[in-house]
Amino acid sequence: MLRNRNTKIIATLGPSSSSPLKIHSLFQAGADIFRLNFSHGNHEDHRKRVFHIRQYEKRLGRPIGILGDLQGPKLRIGNFRKSFVTLKNNQKFTLDLENKLGDEKRVLLPHPEIFRSVKKNTRILIDDGKIILNIEKVFSNKIYTEVVNGGKISNKKGVNIPDTFIKLSSLTPKDIKDLELCLNLSLDYVALSFVQKAKDLIDLKKYIGDQTSIMAKFEKPLAIKRMDDILSHCDAAMVARGDLGVEMPPEEVPILQKRLVDHSREHGKPVVVATQMLDSMVNAPSPTRAEASDVATAVFDAADSLMLSAETASGKFPIESVKIMDRIIRGVEFDRSYRQILDSKKIKLQQTTSDAISSAASQVVKTVEAKAIFTYTRSGATAKRAARERPAVPIIGLSPDRLTARQLALIWGVHSIHALEPKSFSGMIDNACYLAKIEKIVKKGDYVVITAGAPIGVSGSTNNLRIAKIS
Ligand code: PGA
Ligand code: MN
Repeated sequence: MLRNRNTKIIATLGPSSSSPLKIHSLFQAGADIFRLNFSHGNHEDHRKRVFHIRQYEKRLGRPIGILGDLQGPKLRIGNFRKSFVTLKNNQKFTLDLENKLGDEKRVLLPHPEIFRSVKKNTRILIDDGKIILNIEKVFSNKIYTEVVNGGKISNKKGVNIPDTFIKLSSLTPKDIKDLELCLNLSLDYVALSFVQKAKDLIDLKKYIGDQTSIMAKFEKPLAIKRMDDILSHCDAAMVARGDLGVEMPPEEVPILQKRLVDHSREHGKPVVVATQMLDSMVNAPSPTRAEASDVATAVFDAADSLMLSAETASGKFPIESVKIMDRIIRGVEFDRSYRQILDSKKIKLQQTTSDAISSAASQVVKTVEAKAIFTYTRSGATAKRAARERPAVPIIGLSPDRLTARQLALIWGVHSIHALEPKSFSGMIDNACYLAKIEKIVKKGDYVVITAGAPIGVSGSTNNLRIAKIS
C-alpha cells in the first residue's frame, strides 16, 4: 500500500469531485490530502465531503488528511447597475462606502479599514491585477483614483492592495463560522489566508488550541518580508501563488517559492506549493509542457506537497489531473539528479535528541542500505524531523494518535499508520519488522532503522535508534 513517492498531492474538492466514487478515485489516483475551499460551497456541501472521506478512510484502513482553507479577508468591490462597466485608461474612478449600485464613475468598496490604511500614489488592483487604479486622494469614505490599466470590470471582483498593511483582522465573521465547522468536523489542518503578521496566527492558535494544526498561506508581500517570524508561529506553510502572483511581479514568484520552501524546511514545517500547477487541465485532458516543468520544479525544490485547486474542484478532468501530477512527481523522483539535488542542500541541526536521532537515522540508512525508517511518533514531531532530512528511503510514521496519523499525510516521504503503541521497545522493533514484511518493503536479510522514545508514550522523548535485520 506504499505510494513509493515522497512528494504528496492535495486535491481540492468541489462540484467536479464530491461524489463518494470521485473521492475514492482521486485517492486511488494519488491524492493524499483533500482540501475544502471555504471560498466556495456551503456547510452542507463540506460536511458531506468529510463524511464520504471518513467512510472511505474506514474501509481503507489508512489515515487520510483533510485541510479546511478559510477564505480570510478577501477584498471585493460591490455590484454594478448593469453588472459590469468598462473603464478607460486615464479616466477618474472613485471607490466609496455608499451602498448603491456602481457605474462608470464609482463603485462600493465595502471595507472601511482600507480607507484608513491607504495613501496617495498606492496601486489598487482589481480582478487578479487586470485593472490597475492609482490613488490620487483619500478621504474617510472616498478614494479618488486614476485608471492606469482599464478594461471590463464586473460585480464582486477581487481587490488586491499589495504595498499596504491593511488594519484588518485575518479572521472575518464568515471565517469564524467556517472555523467552527472545521473544528466540529475534526479537520486535520486549517489554512489561514492573507496572513500579514505572526500575531494573526497567535490569535488563531488561542482560539483553536490543540484541536487542529495551522497552515499559514503566504500570499502577501508583507508576509514574505516577515517569513521567518511567521514560520515560527505556524505548523505548516503554503506558497499561495494565485494571490501572491497578483501582488508581486511574476519574475519574483519562482525565487520566492524556492526561498519559502527552503526556509520552511529549515524551520521543520511542511510546505505546500499551490495554484495553477496544471491549470490548463481545467479544460483539457493533458497539461502543457510548461505546467509539467512547473510541477517538476516544485518536486526538485523538495516541497512536501503540491496542490490542485480548480483542476480537481471544478475542472473537467479531476482524476486525470491527479494521475498526471503523480506521474510527473514519480518521473522526477526516479531520476538520479533528484537525489543529488536533495543531498546538496545542507540543513542546520538543532541541539535536540530528536534531531540527533533523525540525522543519525538518515546516515545509518546509507551505511547499511536499510529499506525504511520506522518512527514511533505521538505528536508527529519526530516524523517531521526525520522528513526534514529528506532521507533516501520511506519513513513509516506510526502514531497512536488519530489526528497525528492523519496530519502526517501531508509530510514529505512519510507513510502514515494509525496504530496502538507496543508497550516495550522490543515490541516496537518486532512490530516494525512485521509491518515492513506485510507492506512488502523488505525481504529476508534486509535492514530497517527504528527510532522511538523512552519512556514510551511521552511526546518529545525520542532517544533510541535501532538497526534491525529481517529474519
Ligand atoms: P486561494 O489561495 O485559492 O484560496 O486564493 C491560494 C492562492 O492564492 O494561491
Ligand atoms: Mn489566495
